Amino acid sequence: MTSGLGAGGPHATTQVLALLGDPVEHSLSPIMQNAALQAAGIDAVYVALRVAGGEFEGLMRALAYAGGGGNVTLPHKTRAAELLDRPTDAVLQTGACNTFWFERGQLAGDNTDVEGFTRAAASLVPELRGARVLLVGAGGAARAALHGLIGLGVDRVDLLNRTVSTARALADSLGGARTQVLAGATAGHDRDYDLVVQATRLGLADNDPLPLNLDRLRSVGALLDLVYAPRSTPLVRAAIARGIAAADGLDMLVYQGAAAFSRWWGRDPSVEVMFDAVRAVREGASARLGSQHPA
Ligand code: NAP
Repeated sequence: MTSGLGAGGPHATTQVLALLGDPVEHSLSPIMQNAALQAAGIDAVYVALRVAGGEFEGLMRALAYAGGGGNVTLPHKTRAAELLDRPTDAVLQTGACNTFWFERGQLAGDNTDVEGFTRAAASLVPELRGARVLLVGAGGAARAALHGLIGLGVDRVDLLNRTVSTARALADSLGGARTQVLAGATAGHDRDYDLVVQATRLGLADNDPLPLNLDRLRSVGALLDLVYAPRSTPLVRAAIARGIAAADGLDMLVYQGAAAFSRWWGRDPSVEVMFDAVRAVREGASARLGSQHPA
């Protein structure tokens, strides 16, 4: 399993990994994982398969039992967690699985979004113990982030979401005493934050409204937007314009992929190779957008 694909491409011993979801067409995972596999000389190939609800379980099991594994994305992360024989603590805490493989005759899985988030947050703010954090959003990404933040030992997480009841449900199931749900038009305005985490879907399109008005917060140390888009996100650009250290979701994407690679192969990939692969795609997409919309 260490010979790599070689010039002839896939052959009879090549292992298959797949991203299962719907949609999957825009995923950067195949480019990132295949670059890492090639750099490591592993005889495997990573593909993206669009799969509807009815076929998901059979496909996930078949891939794992054939000695491969893969990733899971929307809308199957919750169902994947339910199917596992060997879930990690991150899966049990978040109720979501994004990585699966075959281990001792059983279906094993993890939610590497948690590790991806914590590595991305730590590369932006090296010490988060005791930090005050504003987390915007209450979906799957926010759930992984909240679990990661609590593991990092933050002092307080304020949760802000369009639907307040969803934020309350997240706080009740995962947040504990250090999490508080904010509500109302002036929520968070009188507060200082070491880190703001943006985990809503806003920011993928360049003309999306900002999920948060940074001028209304008293102070912000750093901002991590979990969304990644060809030309960064409007919120990241707004933060940088105000002198706030900021990063978008590309780091989390690469680090969750690197953690998945480690689960499958028992060794770490080259994250530099993975970053180079996704940055090359992003720069190409950004250049195309620029030529469509000249400044
Ligand atoms: P999700 O479970 O569907 O949650 C969506 C969240 O966005 C909810 O909090 C929702 O609020 C909020 N939202 C949606 N539309 C909104 C609007 N128009 N105005 C205000 N809030 C809105 O999605 P998810 O899986 O958490 O993903 C969220 C984002 O994180 C996606 O863009 C995804 O690509 C990104 N993500 C990135 C990574 C990475 O590796 N970088 C990993 C996972 C996810 P309500 O509760 O009010 O509906």
